[in-house]
Amino acid sequence: MMQIKNDSFFSTMILTELEDIVGRDNMHLASAEKLSHAVDYYWGPRVWVDRGKIPEQPDVVVYPQDTRQVSEIVKVAAQHRIPVTPWGGGAGSQGGALPVHGGILVDMKKMCKVTEVNAVAYTATAEAGIIHQDFEWALNEQGFSTMHFPASIGCSTLGGFLAHRGTGVLSTKYGKIEDLVINLEVVLPNGDIINTLPVPRNASGPDLNQVFAGSEGTLGIITKATVKIFDEPQCRKYWAYLFGNMHDALEAGRKIMTRRLQPCVIRLYDEAETVHQIHRVLGIEKYGAYLVFGFDGYEDIVDFQLRHARDICEETAIEDLGSECGQKWWDSRYKFFYPPYIMDLPEAFGTMDTVATYDKVEEIYVGMKAAAEQFPGTKFIAHFSHWYEWGCMMYDRFIVDPAYVPEDPAEAMAMYNKIWYTCIRVAMEKGGVLNEHHGVGLKMGYLMREQYGSAFQVIQKLKDALDPHRIMNPDKMGL
Ligand SMILES: Cc1cc2nc3c(=O)[nH]c(=O)nc-3n(C[C@H](O)[C@H](O)[C@H](O)COP(=O)(O)OP(=O)(O)OC[C@H]3O[C@@H](n4cnc5c(N)ncnc54)[C@H](O)[C@@H]3O)c2cc1C
Repeated sequence: MMQIKNDSFFSTMILTELEDIVGRDNMHLASAEKLSHAVDYYWGPRVWVDRGKIPEQPDVVVYPQDTRQVSEIVKVAAQHRIPVTPWGGGAGSQGGALPVHGGILVDMKKMCKVTEVNAVAYTATAEAGIIHQDFEWALNEQGFSTMHFPASIGCSTLGGFLAHRGTGVLSTKYGKIEDLVINLEVVLPNGDIINTLPVPRNASGPDLNQVFAGSEGTLGIITKATVKIFDEPQCRKYWAYLFGNMHDALEAGRKIMTRRLQPCVIRLYDEAETVHQIHRVLGIEKYGAYLVFGFDGYEDIVDFQLRHARDICEETAIEDLGSECGQKWWDSRYKFFYPPYIMDLPEAFGTMDTVATYDKVEEIYVGMKAAAEQFPGTKFIAHFSHWYEWGCMMYDRFIVDPAYVPEDPAEAMAMYNKIWYTCIRVAMEKGGVLNEHHGVGLKMGYLMREQYGSAFQVIQKLKDALDPHRIMNPDKMGL
C-alpha cells in the first residue's frame, strides 16, 4: 500500500487529483486536522495521546459533498493503491475509524442532507454523514421519529451506526439499525456506485443490506440510506423493580420477552452497577439488581402490557420501585454516558459487549465477572440492555483503578488487552458472541477467526473479491 508523502513529486500529483474532486476547502493536510482524525473513543489511542505519543495519522483528510465525489476519491485510491478510511463521528469504541496505515481519510460529515421523507411508505432517506440527532430532529418537525436513540445520538452518524450495526435504547421494540434499514447506496472499493434492492424483505437472493451493514468500511463507503420511520406513540410508560439476585432478575426479563409482551425497553443493572451508576445518576440508593422496563403505543394497550410485565416481576422482585423510578431512569438515560458519570482516563476501562441466548447468558455473566476481577485493582459492572425473544445483550465493563494502570503507554495497552481478551475468551467458550452493537474494529479483529471458525472464509473471500488490493479500511475486522 502506498503512503502519500508531503514532499514527494508523485504524492503532490495525487493530492492535486483529490483537490480537483473535493475543492481546496474540503482537503486538509494540517497536523491538527490529521491528529483529530487519529483518535476515536477506543481507550488505546486515547492513552497514547494522554501519555504524549502520536498515534498513526492519515496523510490527508477529505470532506466529500456528494456520492459522485466519494466515488472519484475511491477511484483515485484504487488506482494508486492508497488506503481509504471512512470516518463518521469518530465516536466508535473499537478503533474502527483509525487510519492505521495512513492514506486518505474520508470524513463523511458534509454529506448530511435529508433527501426524502415519505409519509405514505413511512420511510426517510438521508446522506450517511448526517449526525443522527439532526436526522431525528428533521423528522420530528414532520411528526415522525427514527426511534433509534443510542447514547451517542449527538456525536455519531447514520453511516457510522449502519457500519457498526448500532443499537438505540428502544431497540427491543423497534429494532437495531440493521432492522430499520430499507435500502442503501454504497460506493464499492473500485469506485462503482451501487444500490441495494428497494425493499428489504424479498426472495431475490442474499440480502445486500446486511452485507454492508456491519462491514465497518471494509467493503465500501455507505453514502445514503433509507430507513423506517414511525409516528410518535400516544404514550410511553415505565416501571422499575429491585431484585435480590441476578438470576431472578434475568428470569423476569426472559419471561417478559418469551411470553411475547412487547416492551420498547428493558434494562437490568447488576448489583455492582446499581451501586456504581443508579445510586449516583438517579440518586436511588437501593441495594440489589435494578430492573426498569417501558411500553409505548396506544394507552390501553400500554396499560395492559404493563400489568402483565408487572405480574411477572412481582413473582420474585424484592421491591416495587414504581413508575416514578422508571420515568426518572428514562429522563436520565443519556447522563450515564457523559461526564461526570462516564468512566475516563486515568482509569483503564472497556465495554466488552456480549450477546447470547438465555440458556447461556447468566453463566457467561458469572464467568466474565470472575475472570475480570482476578486482575489487580479491577472491578466488573454490567447491565443488560437489548432484549430479544431468544436472548439478550450484556453491556459488561471492566474498570481498572488508576493506581494499577502502568505509566508507560505500551505497558498500559498490554495490561488492557490481557484483561479484555481473557474476559472475551470466557464469553466465547461459553457460547457468547463478541459484540452486539459496538462492532469489531481494530480491537477485536484478531478474534474474528476464533469467533467464526471456518465460516470466516466467507467474509474473507467477500473482502478479497470486492477489494483485491485491500485499500478499504485495512486491518479492521481482521481483514
Ligand atoms: C458516549 C458514547 C455512547 C455510545 N452509545 C452507543 C449506543 O447507545 N449504541 C451504539 O450502537 N453505539 C454507541 N456508541 C458507539 C458509537 O456511537 C457507535 O459505534 C457508532 O456506530 C459510531 O458511529 P460514528 O459515526 O461515530 O462512526 P465512526 O466512529 O466514525 O466509525 C465507526 C466505523 O464505521 C466506519 N464508517 C463510518 N461511516 C461510514 C460510512 N458512511 N460508510 C462505511 N463505513 C463507515 C468507520 O470506518 C469505522 O469502521 C457510543 C459511543 C460513545 C462515545
